[in-house]
Amino acid sequence: MQGNRTFTMIKPDAVKAGKSGLILDHIIKNGFEIRAMRLVHMNRRQAEAFYSIHKERPFFDGLVTFMSSGPAIAAILEKENAVDSYRELIGATNPANAAEGTIRKLYATSIQENAVHGSDADETAEQEGSFFFNYFERV
Ligand code: ATP
Ligand code: MG
Repeated sequence: MQGNRTFTMIKPDAVKAGKSGLILDHIIKNGFEIRAMRLVHMNRRQAEAFYSIHKERPFFDGLVTFMSSGPAIAAILEKENAVDSYRELIGATNPANAAEGTIRKLYATSIQENAVHGSDADETAEQEGSFFFNYFERV
């Protein structure tokens, strides 16, 4: 059975472009409830830790620089089948391949600066939520 929570970030490109409100509205209108939320400006070490799964990838250094370049919004979202449902809402990693009406199609500018993060499994949703929110904040 699929869990009912996922974790998202509105990435620094979208926050800087003033799209946070539109993106949160899009998320809420699609039936997700916000369970925890905070503005975070990660330093390089924090961004490296968050994306440590990608540390061997050629794009890792650029990704860390981008994710630590300004404030982002971290949030825990709740909806039935949250992980898959949210991945569908945000669209493909590369906005050029994202379906019409998805958040990345609407707001992303490149494969790196792609507006939002969405967890890829229940287990990573739990880990990523715990990375930013303590037990009291996420229970
Ligand atoms: P996310 O984990 O942020 O939700 P994703 O699961 O769609 O995105 P991943 O493969 O996990 O994609 O990549 C993590 C992030 O690394 C991407 O969202 C993007 O910002 C960046 N990225 C991925 N592939 C590339 C690439 N080829 N070039 C530059 N940046 C990339
Ligand atoms: Mg991913």
